[in-house]
Amino acid sequence: MNWLTNFVKPKIQALVSKKEVPDNLWHKCPSCGAMIFHRDLEENLHVCQHCGHHMRLDPARRLKMLFDPGYQTIELPKVIVDPLKFRDQKRYTDRLKEAQSKTSRQDAIVVAHGKINGQGAVAAVFDFNFMGGSMGMAVGEGLLAAAKLAVLQQVPLIAIPASGGARMQEAILSLMQMPRTIIAVEMVKEAGLPYIVVLTDPTTGGVTASFAMLGDIHIAEPGAQIGFAGARVIESTIRETLPEGFQRAEYLLDHGMVDMVVHRQDLRDTLGRLVDLLRRPGPGAEIVAIPRGDGPDRGGPRKPVSIKGGAAPR
Ligand SMILES: [Zn+2]
Repeated sequence: MNWLTNFVKPKIQALVSKKEVPDNLWHKCPSCGAMIFHRDLEENLHVCQHCGHHMRLDPARRLKMLFDPGYQTIELPKVIVDPLKFRDQKRYTDRLKEAQSKTSRQDAIVVAHGKINGQGAVAAVFDFNFMGGSMGMAVGEGLLAAAKLAVLQQVPLIAIPASGGARMQEAILSLMQMPRTIIAVEMVKEAGLPYIVVLTDPTTGGVTASFAMLGDIHIAEPGAQIGFAGARVIESTIRETLPEGFQRAEYLLDHGMVDMVVHRQDLRDTLGRLVDLLRRPGPGAEIVAIPRGDGPDRGGPRKPVSIKGGAAPR
């Protein structure tokens, strides 16, 4: 027995380990600055209990929050990696690898299917931590896969973007995902299935300019930034001060771009209710005879229209 290894070393280790306080126990609210204990944050679905600020959510947490237990994520189609051999300060492939190891995800989208309050649905969720949730080929493919799955399962598609827009490193190939995702949405709509968008912070750029604004119903999380160009860019272009709350969910609701702003804790129930309403087979339509009249719109013979009188008397 060695007193150095058995007694002194553990003592030293204990001294050292005491200082190693995990830095993720407390989170600072970016809105009000309050320190929130990680368990409270988890319980409150990453919403600040002091000011109600909705923090950005990891896709895994988002899916868990949204779906009933037993949902499944699907494997997404592989795409060609960096066909343009793009390099800025770093190689694009290096940036990709970095993001993949940081998030343990192939790209910025996760597609899952399951039940929301007992209603079947397919959800495509963005990961903002993966290169700002930017839309490249992989994300475009992901959305197409989600749309195909929704059509195959005859269930609604729910898109939950959190994105800075197009992925610059893929240049034109990234921009081509805008029409592709629109085609994906059209597939769902043509199959007569609801397409719902849950706009989360932030939804900007090419994502806003494509599939994110084509929902049958647009739900937004409180305080989410939703827009095309950033407010600062617009201000410096038009040289005017923008109104308070510009590009925020509530502002968009007031101006008719969003149908409802829903607190995160009510999101699952709201989605479940909406899907139930949209999918519930209504009573069969009755065939009613249209009364025949003389007017051209009533199916009767067209009569020549004569305009009596001339100019109005002065
Ligand atoms: Zn707060």
